[in-house]
Amino acid sequence: MKNLILIAAPGAGKGTLSNDLTDKYNYAHISTGDLLREAASKGDELGNMIHEMQTKGELVPDEIVASALKNRLQEEDCNNGYILDGYPRTVKQAETYEEILKELNKDLGVVIVLDIEKEQLIKRITGRRLCHGCDAIYNIYDPKLTPKHEGICDKCGGELYQRSDDNLESLESRYNTYLEKTQPLIDYYSKKNCLYRVDSSLGKEHTLEQVEDLLNKLGDNVD
Ligand code: AMP
Repeated sequence: MKNLILIAAPGAGKGTLSNDLTDKYNYAHISTGDLLREAASKGDELGNMIHEMQTKGELVPDEIVASALKNRLQEEDCNNGYILDGYPRTVKQAETYEEILKELNKDLGVVIVLDIEKEQLIKRITGRRLCHGCDAIYNIYDPKLTPKHEGICDKCGGELYQRSDDNLESLESRYNTYLEKTQPLIDYYSKKNCLYRVDSSLGKEHTLEQVEDLLNKLGDNVD
């Protein structure tokens, strides 16, 4: 399988698409947000700094993210293709990523942009609930994504929680950072002829179908 990079505004559905693809196919899912949340949960000095930056919706320093990513990429499950969710987020990170790929002898693969209007992001972010046990993603404002029992995961019975940065104030900052720092990547990867766009406004099934069609066209033969 080709390696995938997902580029999208916060709440556009990168995590949900990643979960849907890894449920069906043999991808590893690498979310730099999750890697950083794991580091933050250690509660040491570095962890507390990361937690504070994540809660405010600020980008964590490049060296910290690159080092966590490089370690993760060397794990065995990344050899069959992986989905990169949340990295790179700036052109500088894209350049660093290319150096890491060279060192590890891996391919860039395909870059997929999830397109969605800002208005839709507010409900997606403020209604998002995640499972502590299996990372499943729910949304209390979307009848199709509401858990059967409030606060409990349908899949594993785990407890659901809300991310500390899933609030309006943090969304505003994360969205502005996306426009200013991450959107230039669209141009960057277009020039490399590896960028494809998908409409993520019509729900998770529609998004997954478009990505499967795209991967089939590119020769990865998923169905
Ligand atoms: P996400 O889970 O992708 O929404 O990321 C949540 C937060 O983690 C972001 O708002 C940043 O604070 C941090 N983060 C995740 N990925 C990166 C990255 N590539 N560079 C810097 N900070 C990141």
